[in-house]
Amino acid sequence: MKPAPFEYVVPTTLAEALDALATPGARVIAGGQSLLQDLGWRRTEASLLVDVADLDELAGVHDDVGSVRIGARVRHVDLERGAVAGPLGALLVATAGWIAHPPVRSRGTLVGSLCFAHPASEWCALAAGLGGSVELASTRGRRTVAVGDFLYGPHETAAAPDELATAVVLPRLPGGTRVGVVESRRTHAGYAHVAATAAVLPDGSARLGLAGAAPTGIRAHAAEAALARGEDPGAAAATVDADPREHPHAPIAYTRHVAGVLVRRVLARTEEAAA
Ligand SMILES: Cc1cc2nc3c(=O)[nH]c(=O)nc-3n(C[C@H](O)[C@H](O)[C@H](O)COP(=O)(O)OP(=O)(O)OC[C@H]3O[C@@H](n4cnc5c(N)ncnc54)[C@H](O)[C@@H]3O)c2cc1C
Repeated sequence: MKPAPFEYVVPTTLAEALDALATPGARVIAGGQSLLQDLGWRRTEASLLVDVADLDELAGVHDDVGSVRIGARVRHVDLERGAVAGPLGALLVATAGWIAHPPVRSRGTLVGSLCFAHPASEWCALAAGLGGSVELASTRGRRTVAVGDFLYGPHETAAAPDELATAVVLPRLPGGTRVGVVESRRTHAGYAHVAATAAVLPDGSARLGLAGAAPTGIRAHAAEAALARGEDPGAAAATVDADPREHPHAPIAYTRHVAGVLVRRVLARTEEAAA
């Protein structure tokens, strides 16, 4: 199918973009890697696409005290090539390599992935697992929302139709942190069945993210707590954290099982990243 007709604008300032987004039926287009497919299949509608590719305010990676701000124009490939330093950067490199294939990675964005909110998105799992936050702007003002509150469910977020996500903020990980990502997937042409991300801090505590195990990417709080108590984090991930829906290739019980296995596996396979 072809998309229904739409208007297209490329604002050059944030103020222009926010004015355009205040138009009923307007939608942000970032890399277009998911949106154009959805418009083509008429799974979604837009009367006006607001392309954010020229907005300087959304470019680049910025260091702050204890955190890193990744602008909405930063693509998967930028993170894969090491746009962020230290253990957080190493975790981002490891994660980006799992996402789709190079053509998608060369246009798709981390922030666009959070806004698309696919349940099996690695970026949603990573950002939720690290306790990150999303910065939002509209003509009504600005606000910051924790990723855990931003992701409501499959393709549902806290962003209002007129809000632009300008950046994601992730905590910087201290030197000596060990990081890893593991997945269960049938093919690189689509999403993983389940994925697990891990950052194990020098004090032994872990920040764990799970994709594909619930209606959104989640932080595996129960698995983290079990690890801290010296218990099996995989069992906690499978029985408490995971809340899977039926999958075309996997019954719910199997998805829970895989979530537990991957949490154990990612913890066993974390590697120390350069400070
Ligand atoms: C073949 C294929 C395989 C893929 N495999 C994976 C995979 O394994 N793992 C994975 O995580 N992803 C995968 N993806 C998705 C890919 O990561 C996309 O890059 C991602 O969905 C975001 O796309 P985008 O940045 O181009 O956003 P777009 O497609 O432009 O937008 C996606 C949605 O988010 C909204 N949006 C985008 N940016 C903003 C913003 N700044 N503010 C407000 N709303 C915004 C748009 O309005 C739209 O609703 C795959 C895609 C394809 C085509």
